[in-house]
Amino acid sequence: MENNVLSLSKNEEFTFTCSNEVCCFNGCCEDLNQFLTPYDIVRLKNHLGLQSSLFLETYTFQQIGPETGLPIISLRPGPGSELKCPFVTPSGCGVYNDRPSSCRMYPLIRIISRSRATGKVTEQYMLLKEPHCHGFNGNQQWTIQKWIENQGLSTYNELNDLLMEIIGLKNRLIPGQLDLTSKHIFHMVCYDLDTFRKHILEEKLPDGFTAGKDLTDAAEKDDTDLLKIGLQWLKNVLFEEK
Ligand code: SF4
Ligand code: SF4
Repeated sequence: MENNVLSLSKNEEFTFTCSNEVCCFNGCCEDLNQFLTPYDIVRLKNHLGLQSSLFLETYTFQQIGPETGLPIISLRPGPGSELKCPFVTPSGCGVYNDRPSSCRMYPLIRIISRSRATGKVTEQYMLLKEPHCHGFNGNQQWTIQKWIENQGLSTYNELNDLLMEIIGLKNRLIPGQLDLTSKHIFHMVCYDLDTFRKHILEEKLPDGFTAGKDLTDAAEKDDTDLLKIGLQWLKNVLFEEK
């Protein structure tokens, strides 16, 4: 049986129940293809009590996007397995409260487009029905909004949209490779937030990059604030966009 992708309207209901009682329990966590967003990394490294650089080194690998030339971070499978998530345990997800956005979003797919004129983001949702997933045989009813609230997705979506805006600007304004310093800054802001904070507070950002008051203030606050302001700052310094 093939995957089935269905378009969902805003108030349309769908049925889905995932629990440790389904026969496929943990199955999807043992077939890993997991990109991590900046906010995924913040949540996971804090859950594990690790500095971002150590989290990246221990749990991830990096590739360069063939079209964007930008780094893409993915979860590295657990020991002795090619595809198993390093956080899956016999009783379920070992980082459940801080699991990545793609784990929260499933079985929904969120597609966004942004108006160049107004910057307004339009969302579209699809339902992914994969043959191995028995969650559709349950009886819990959801709408998109209920699912987003239940899965705590609002901040993930907000920060993921900022990242997508930056990637869109990069592709539009700088079609080739970024210079090495810009790539380094992109990686640090998006994925290695503790190192970014250290560079701001010690005034050691690369030559030509100045933190400014908003960013310096944000570096004194929590990671979510720093990531929000940092992504805005990144957009401005790389593309001079306000
Ligand atoms: S983070 Fe948790 S929910 Fe996501 S794939 Fe790993 S074990 Fe599964
Ligand atoms: S019901 Fe779907 S999401 Fe839940 S464990 Fe099974 S395959 Fe994974």
